[in-house]
This record gives sequence, structure tokens and C-alpha cells, in this order.
Amino acid sequence: MTIALYPGSFDPVTNGHLDIINRAASLFELLVIGVYDTPPKYLSFTTSERVDMMAKSVNHLSNVKVVSYTGLTISFAHQVKATVLVRGLRMSSDFEREFEMSLMNKKIAQDIESVFLMASLEYQFLSSSLLKEVATLGGSQMVKSLVPPHVIEALKKKNLI
Ligand code: ADP
Repeated sequence: MTIALYPGSFDPVTNGHLDIINRAASLFELLVIGVYDTPPKYLSFTTSERVDMMAKSVNHLSNVKVVSYTGLTISFAHQVKATVLVRGLRMSSDFEREFEMSLMNKKIAQDIESVFLMASLEYQFLSSSLLKEVATLGGSQMVKSLVPPHVIEALKKKNLI
């Protein structure tokens, strides 16, 4: 059985992430979504809020589970017995950073392979940070097509819409 890990901050989960998750779930027997506890960036949502939003978004997928983690992604991958790391690649913004990270991960652990799924056309320019910026500046109608309805509610609770 091939277990894959999809790690990220998911602050909050967007339809771009969910597109990658739906596609990865059909490629691997088990997909673990790792919600990174302490990324080196400002977070709008707590770890448990990010885990809850993600869990609600994927509850229709029986081979997907959501777990938070801290520390090295590679160590967490070993812990959950994942042999594949899934990442999403947007056209312009992700390549260099992802390439760098995958080489570093390979150096740390040769038994784990990174697999990149190209972001779908409609989500190429979607990131959690841009989503929050647009929402805060009054684009609430616009963001409704970019996240699940329960994430809209969560953004409202944080006064981000
Ligand atoms: P990180 O903090 O690791 O960058 P993110 O939550 O921003 O975490 O993203 C997690 C993964 O999802 C990364 O591989 C990122 O490139 C990918 N991703 C983010 N937004 C999109 C999108 N709109 N379409 C496809 N993949 C995406």
C-alpha cells in the first residue's frame, strides 16, 4: 500500500488545495494531510481550526486523514509510513522553492519521493494569503468561489470578511 503525505499550512484550506487532494486521493491508497503546526509565517487560524476546516472539507474522501504535526516534514512522513510527499505546483510562484525543498528532503531521506501535481488552470493564482487579502479588502463575493462554504463562515468569525 502506498501512503502519501500532503503537507502544508492550509491557513485556510482553499479549493486549490482541495483540487490537489481530490486528485492525489485517487492516485494513492492512503493520503495523509499534514497540517503544519508552526510554519515560519503569520497565521490567521490556530492549528486546531486549520485541522477542523480541512477535516470538514475532505470528509467525503474515505482514504484521506488529517493530522497536525510539528518539526521536520520528513520525520512526520516516516512516522505515518508515507513514501511519497505530494505538493501542488502553481505556474510561476512555486517551482524554485519546491525544487529546493525536494532536493533538501531527498538529501535527508532517500526513501521518500516528492510528487508534484500541477495546479488546475482556475486555481493557478490562488493562495491562502492572497485569498485573505482580497477578502479583507471587501472582495467577499469573489472569495465565495474559491473556498468551501464553512471556510467563508470561519473567515467571517475572524473578521476577515
Ligand atoms: P506551505 O506553507 O507549505 O506553502 P500551503 O498551505 O500554502 O503550504 O500549500 C500547501 C501545498 O499546496 C503547497 O505544495 C502549495 O504549492 C500547494 N498549493 C497552494 N495553493 C495551491 C493552488 N491554488 N493550487 C494547487 N496547489 C496549491
